[in-house]
Amino acid sequence: MSRAWLIGAGPGDAELITVKAMRALAVADIVLVDDLVNPDILQMAGAHAQIVYVGKRGGHVSTPQHDIVAVMLEHLRAGRSVARLKGGDPFVFGRGGEELLALQTASIPVEVINGITAGIAAPTTIGIPVTHRGLAQGAIFVTGHSAADAEPDWRALAATGLTIVVYMGIRRLVDITEQLLRAGMAPHTPCAAIESATLPTQRQVLATLDTLHAEVRAAGLGSPSIIVIGNVVSLAPPSNAQRPAHERTLTIGLGFREGVSADQIEAVVLDALGPRSLDEVATIATLDRKRTDPALTTFCLRHKIALAGYSPEAIEAYLDTRPELPRSSTVYAHTGVHAVCEPCALLAAPGGKLLPEKYARDGITVAIATLAEPHDMPHNALAE
Ligand code: SAH
Repeated sequence: MSRAWLIGAGPGDAELITVKAMRALAVADIVLVDDLVNPDILQMAGAHAQIVYVGKRGGHVSTPQHDIVAVMLEHLRAGRSVARLKGGDPFVFGRGGEELLALQTASIPVEVINGITAGIAAPTTIGIPVTHRGLAQGAIFVTGHSAADAEPDWRALAATGLTIVVYMGIRRLVDITEQLLRAGMAPHTPCAAIESATLPTQRQVLATLDTLHAEVRAAGLGSPSIIVIGNVVSLAPPSNAQRPAHERTLTIGLGFREGVSADQIEAVVLDALGPRSLDEVATIATLDRKRTDPALTTFCLRHKIALAGYSPEAIEAYLDTRPELPRSSTVYAHTGVHAVCEPCALLAAPGGKLLPEKYARDGITVAIATLAEPHDMPHNALAE
């Protein structure tokens, strides 16, 4: 008997398709392929299968939705099995629901096979979980595509404090970010735009809500892109540092009290650096529970500096190996460790050395370490 599958091909990387989808593709007589499906996936179709393109990219003319359904019904009624292959997940901005209803109306049995949706996969590729305890209790998937009557209520979305994941939004980015800013979302909210996620051609931009559209334009990012807006983006290590990684030779260990602002951190770090420049800093390291502090993440994102957090156990264990480092019982009473800045700076700079001057102001303390030159490194460190 003829049967139909609505299949998600995943975000791009052919290996991200499910086993179930592979099995269905291998037996289908007809494979109807949408935009954004990695052509490599078609190798999973059987030798006998007829492959029909219905997408609008890559020089093909887009097939209207009712024609797609008509083609499917024609094959199904002729006794052929049909696999309808869509990018990501068929039920996430994939119009899979419409096709399901049309086939059900025609009394055709349909199996829907999920795929990994781009809105989860794209952030994952750069270390962003869409939910994270303490940063986002949920995520909203929304289309940025404007349909006159169906503009999302950006103000309501901004008020939730949840991660906002925008599909099809890159062309309307200025509009979207302006509406979110007008809705009162903080200009320094961390954001990412990720183009062609999971493919070798992937590119991305990390920015803040007020700079995202300028950064995306400067980088020339286009469709298909996912936009992620919210504090979870602060978990992404900076990817597009102005200065190449090998020229970033400093690490900073930072201790700071609750409630300091990004500008205060910046002012104190700049003073501590003296003649050295911020873009020489490879990593800022602190206690793990301070790593997601909004002031710190904003400052690091602004300057594209990586952020590291160390547990009290790791810091104490390190201090045990370095008896010459200073310890303070006052610091211990506040933080549960005998020192924060020096061990954190050194933990982030294996084999490195502390610079002599430590700096403290406004409840912010800064220790700076220089990374080891490659020839200073012990042999086993190089091999790692
Ligand atoms: N059903 C698909 C979404 C189709 S809508 C899914 O679940 O992923 C098309 C939009 O998806 C694009 O405009 C873009 O926003 C997003 N998208 C799809 N693949 C992508 C990729 N590899 N990288 C970034 N965005 C992608």
